[in-house]
Amino acid sequence: MINYDDHNIFAKILRGEIPCKKIYEDEFVLSFYDINPQKKIHALVIPKGKYVDLDDFCKNASPKEMVGMFKGIEIVSNKLGISLRSGKGYRALTNIGNDGGQEVPHLHFHLFGGEKIGKMVS
Ligand code: AMP
Repeated sequence: MINYDDHNIFAKILRGEIPCKKIYEDEFVLSFYDINPQKKIHALVIPKGKYVDLDDFCKNASPKEMVGMFKGIEIVSNKLGISLRSGKGYRALTNIGNDGGQEVPHLHFHLFGGEKIGKMVS
């Protein structure tokens, strides 16, 4: 069982204790711009539930939360004009654990777009 840290920065954003540049919100997800953008468009999509990473989410989230998470990514990519429907494309990425390079222990998907994203792993 993974322990979720209620003091992580995204938990604080979800509780409204720290501001964010909000892109979208619904029952299942919150999306906001990354504070340190790595590409022209760099958004984050996080579930509202307390999940440390994708592994935790896949094991413990409800089917409704899972659908909500992935629908959220689709909605946000359209809202940002980076989706295939917008004639573009983007990269969705999630880091898991130490070797994966995860810094914030609340599941988040990075959405990179607005330009050619380039090499998959550097
Ligand atoms: P990761 O390394 O996958 O855990 O990514 C964490 C991401 O969170 C990094 O890209 C940070 O720039 C981003 N980040 C950290 N604090 C904030 C914040 N307060 N608002 C928006 N993004 C943040």
